[in-house]
Amino acid sequence: MNDIALNLQSIKDRIHTACKDSGRQEAEIQLLLATKTVPVDRIKIALNTGSTLIAENKIQELKEKFEPLQDTPHTNHFIGHLQTNKIKELLRYDVSCLQSLDRIDLAEKLHQRLQANNKTLDVLIQINTSGEESKFGIQPDEAISLIEKVARLESLKIKGLMTIGLFSATPEHVRPCFRLLKNIQQKVQELSLPNVAMNELSMGMSGDLETAIEEGATIIRVGTAIFGKRSYPDSYYWNEQNP
Ligand SMILES: *Cc1c(COP(=O)(O)O)cnc(C)c1O
Repeated sequence: MNDIALNLQSIKDRIHTACKDSGRQEAEIQLLLATKTVPVDRIKIALNTGSTLIAENKIQELKEKFEPLQDTPHTNHFIGHLQTNKIKELLRYDVSCLQSLDRIDLAEKLHQRLQANNKTLDVLIQINTSGEESKFGIQPDEAISLIEKVARLESLKIKGLMTIGLFSATPEHVRPCFRLLKNIQQKVQELSLPNVAMNELSMGMSGDLETAIEEGATIIRVGTAIFGKRSYPDSYYWNEQNP
């Protein structure tokens, strides 16, 4: 077996164990491959090993990999900060879910373009649960008000919430972030807003996926543990200002 197949197997084992420990069904958890900086040939190996869901952080990379991945069946989500001037491209490259919707101006512009094309788009609302200034996402106390506004834009289909969580080598330090996301999910569910589904919780990465599954994740986003270390620091993708 190649390294990617082996790594995928060990992630599946981790998901299996985490589900068993927390009394959840494996079928409730979707594995998303975070493919930033990963070359197409390695993504193809993962897709040919049975993965189907991948996501990029930058439109430029989405664009470069679009053609070469055309003949390999997969679904694309987008998990990076999206500038409004990149909306057209996001929609052109077949992204089925924008996991990083975090502000109303972006939502309104997406809605306009989608309406003009007679299309809809699944979205997750990204919440900054760590309180770190460098991360994107709406502040927890502003989340419900944003969700109420986005719910009125009928071409955007809210499916749930996404968070990155605290950047820490200790999963226990990230747990409160995941709990907070779950808590906001429950509050929104109680409101029963029209045009809002709250089933998805996208949280947990290579280092803390067990904790995320214990706290209710339905989508875990894994990069490093499958493809190996990246040559860029994550701050390049997560910070307001790129270095
Ligand atoms: C890179 C990235 C991941 C995956 O992180 P790993 O630690 O490599 O598993 C998950 N979510 C987002 C938003 C990312 O940018």
